[in-house]
Amino acid sequence: MFTVSTSPLLHPSIRNNAFMPRRCIGHIRLHTTPSIRGCTLSIRSSSSPDAGFTCIDGKKEGKSISDEIKIEVSRMDASIHVVPGLAVILVGDREDSASYVRNKKKACESAGIKSVDVCLPEDSSEEEVLKYVLSFNNDPTIHGILVQLPLPSHLNEHNILKAINPKKDVDGFHPQNMGLLAMRGREPDFVPCTPKGCIELLHRYNVEIEGKRAVVIGRSNIVGMPVAHLLQNEDATVTTIHSKTKNPEEITREADILIAAAGQPNMVRGSWIKPGAVVIDVGINHIDDLNAPRGRRVVGDVCYEEACKVASAITPVPGGVGPMTIAMLLSNTLTSAKRIHEFE
Ligand code: NAP
Repeated sequence: MFTVSTSPLLHPSIRNNAFMPRRCIGHIRLHTTPSIRGCTLSIRSSSSPDAGFTCIDGKKEGKSISDEIKIEVSRMDASIHVVPGLAVILVGDREDSASYVRNKKKACESAGIKSVDVCLPEDSSEEEVLKYVLSFNNDPTIHGILVQLPLPSHLNEHNILKAINPKKDVDGFHPQNMGLLAMRGREPDFVPCTPKGCIELLHRYNVEIEGKRAVVIGRSNIVGMPVAHLLQNEDATVTTIHSKTKNPEEITREADILIAAAGQPNMVRGSWIKPGAVVIDVGINHIDDLNAPRGRRVVGDVCYEEACKVASAITPVPGGVGPMTIAMLLSNTLTSAKRIHEFE
């Protein structure tokens, strides 16, 4: 049984129920919304395990960001008659990818962003995919280009991502943007959406990052690697765990901030978590559950029921990082359009 005391991570203003101006990462310029007014992240006791525990509400934060973006999109349209445009290229018929693309389209529509989807058959050649990428690079009504990953295995992901104009690379996966993210003192044009969403949640819940021990499980280009760079850029001391790491639980137990992006259902148990830690669960895993309406349900990489007895705050799955990923995509698309049209 863990005894949990005041979280060392919480900014004093949270403990006093007051708000400090929220910081922004990358190019998002969002308001300093007092998004968690009334939350108490600080006090927890072993006799009342859930007292003071915070469920980090990505759905609510994502909606609030999307609402702000919608206002900015209308302002831009009214002032210079430009609507941000996002092009999404989907190759193949993976059900999960098709569903992400549908969600992105819906989110664009509700924020007033123009969205153009290209759905190509599984056996498309690299040249066919590149043809669309290049045409969107040259299309002045398109400000963001996203190639849905993973691509079918016969396609060279590197060649295709590298063909996207880095100034329209709203997913942030172009090697130039990835490289700049990894360099001290440099800033990429775009930061990948899921990692950016994780950090934005930490900011919105006023979690202190500087000087804290952060552990990231996973080192993929999409999540683990960029989120580790972002945490390091914010002066956390970062350790990355991967599939060959021995005794990962010994490392995670030292983390003030734990970000799990391994794609392994319920891998992180309560005993892996430092009391009072803030946990961001990126994992989206489908598991069988005979009690669920369709016999399956979605869980994260963290065993939520155990984690919420130990952590001071955690993102749920679903409803945590997922909605933030989409909100960050809208934000990157708006930023791109503003930059291209020099609109303040
Ligand atoms: P990925 O490309 O498969 O990478 C997984 C990473 O986790 C790899 O670095 C792997 O290590 C590591 N790993 C796997 N098993 C491990 C284990 N048992 N112990 C320690 N490390 C382990 O996956 P991804 O694209 O980064 O996605 C990770 C998860 O996040 C998935 O569940 C995915 O669905 C989810 N996701 C969610 C969002 C969202 O918006 N919420 C967005 C993207 C992804 P190696 O490098 O050694 O192989």
